[in-house]
Amino acid sequence: MKISKSFTLLQLPLILVIASISIFAYSLLNKSHRVEAIRRGSKQSIQIASIQQVQSRPQKNIAFNVPTKFASSTFYQAKLKKGEKYIALTFDDGPADHFTDQILSILRQNNIKATFFMIGENIKTYPQQAKNVIANGNVIGNHTWHHWYHHMSPQLAALEIENTANIIYQTTGAKTTYFRPPGGILNNGVVTYARNQKDAIIMWSDDSEDWRRLSASTLVKRVLKQAAPGGIILMHDGGGNRSNTAE
Ligand SMILES: [Zn+2]
Repeated sequence: MKISKSFTLLQLPLILVIASISIFAYSLLNKSHRVEAIRRGSKQSIQIASIQQVQSRPQKNIAFNVPTKFASSTFYQAKLKKGEKYIALTFDDGPADHFTDQILSILRQNNIKATFFMIGENIKTYPQQAKNVIANGNVIGNHTWHHWYHHMSPQLAALEIENTANIIYQTTGAKTTYFRPPGGILNNGVVTYARNQKDAIIMWSDDSEDWRRLSASTLVKRVLKQAAPGGIILMHDGGGNRSNTAE
């Protein structure tokens, strides 16, 4: 079992990354008032209407494929060239009513792309939000259908991943080889199946623990403390009230 802890980010462009300094620079150059409003937690900054909505028919031929050399590998962070400052934002357990669009709106306002690891049954419930993720230029990853933690037979693991892949494609037109196991569990069967399918297993280096409903200021402190070039930040747009995450 090959487990690589790093990869060269420039060779894996489909994990969309941001310059860690770009938000700040962007705020200075373009939208200082809006970013300041976000920093203060102002509700004025959260304008759902500003996200890109899409037509009901899914776009075609969108493929989020990891380069062949990274197939079946597991990543906790990206290996960057010296001096590069990029960090990846990832949002799990959506799509969700309200919070996905709220987060998309903030990302769009700040010219940030992120990766959303979606749960199949949530795409079934909130297809429009899944489409909005794509329409706003973000990446979708597979996060299984049920988000189960228990051990799974190869057949059950296949259903969990393939049913999710199918609904991602049917809803958004996208195919993805990015997989994140629920709970980060690597040994209950799903990752074995994903690796056999040549998916890349995307873990994280920077856990916001936003599922604990920490305050926005605590989340910011936690994330910044762990932040480093090439880092992968774990947050959630689904699975509960994510108002603190959005704030
Ligand atoms: Zn999850």
